Amino acid sequence: MMTNNFHTHTFRCLHAYGTEREYALEALCNGMEQLGFSDHAPFPDHDFGYRMPYSELGEYLSAIDRLRPEFDGRVKLFKGLEIEFHQKYIDYYKYLLEELELDYLALGEHMYFGSDGELKNIVLASSSDDCLEYAENVCRAVETGYFRFVAHPDIMFINSFDIDKNIEEACRMITDCAAKNDMILELNANG
Ligand SMILES: [Zn+2]
Ligand SMILES: [Zn+2]
Repeated sequence: MMTNNFHTHTFRCLHAYGTEREYALEALCNGMEQLGFSDHAPFPDHDFGYRMPYSELGEYLSAIDRLRPEFDGRVKLFKGLEIEFHQKYIDYYKYLLEELELDYLALGEHMYFGSDGELKNIVLASSSDDCLEYAENVCRAVETGYFRFVAHPDIMFINSFDIDKNIEEACRMITDCAAKNDMILELNANG
């Protein structure tokens, strides 16, 4: 039986259902011990899509705070976000963890920056070369130490390419840097 889950989205991300309280109740009814909320992080200066607006971040976090006493001693609730990595957001990660006191950030690379600085979406990869860039970006993020686990590294398989040398190399890069940094990789299977 699954007793811990740290990858949870709510209605706020615009592609999931249920409130924070409904998820916590469901966790309780299913005998779970720990539930981590990791809705998609909004950014102050850019809307990457499929997520709450930045103006809702405070309400999301306080909704979890309000639930904690109610579920105390039954299900341990964690306040997190699934978030993309870019070097320019380092101060934002610090702000989320230190000022807003989030329990964790999960690295969720959907959008990433290519070697030319261009914003890309791994789901729309045009060739397996993009998987290499994606893997480089994941490794760079892992090494910063701001993330507690990598959400769905297997998202790079959402495409019509055959497994080739690039994809094998991308997998190796991610597993090697995860091993080196003692980083958890989620098996999501969506890809
Ligand atoms: Zn997610
Ligand atoms: Zn995701």
